[in-house]
Amino acid sequence: MPDKTDKKSSDVEMATNMTVRGHIDALQEIMGYNGAKIIFRNIGQSDVYETPPEYDWEPCMTEDARTMIYTEVVNTLGLKAALSLWRRMGYITAKYVVEKGHILDSFMDLAPDEKFRKSMEFFSAVSGKGKIVITEDGGVEYDCFNCTTCAPYDSERPICLGFVGSFQYLTDWSYGKGVYIVKEIKCKAMGDDTCYHVLTEIE
Ligand SMILES: [Zn+2]
Repeated sequence: MPDKTDKKSSDVEMATNMTVRGHIDALQEIMGYNGAKIIFRNIGQSDVYETPPEYDWEPCMTEDARTMIYTEVVNTLGLKAALSLWRRMGYITAKYVVEKGHILDSFMDLAPDEKFRKSMEFFSAVSGKGKIVITEDGGVEYDCFNCTTCAPYDSERPICLGFVGSFQYLTDWSYGKGVYIVKEIKCKAMGDDTCYHVLTEIE
């Protein structure tokens, strides 16, 4: 697991090449090459888009700049349309990072519960977002107390679907598809004090 002190010594929080490259590949898959290009151009990141980073742990751009990728999707499509896209973006980004970045290979052969717990711990460590919570019956939930994605918005329903999508991928990766669905049950956009994600068993 990479040590977060590897990141640039300044206090500015940095997003890694791994995550940004995952976003680029995910957005291209969803919006096509030119659609994704517009998003990156609008936030002043054309250079990163034209010459995508490798799937490695070097710092790529500030975390604030990375968050702008998500908010620009809202600016372009409106919040309602952006939400389902955010979910797919989260899901596909996690998929690429796992499959092309090979970040979870060492957990591959663990039992499903441990596989999921470790992959969620890993997500928290590398993203610098949130922490896992172990429930009384040993389940894993995610308290994203320092979520920034939803900060600019007010909503009557949870909107941190980028996280939901990424967690859904990790759930599917650990347990197989169709076993659990990830739900965000608290969201700062709804006035809650945190963004909180749980697994619900699919009947
Ligand atoms: Zn949030």
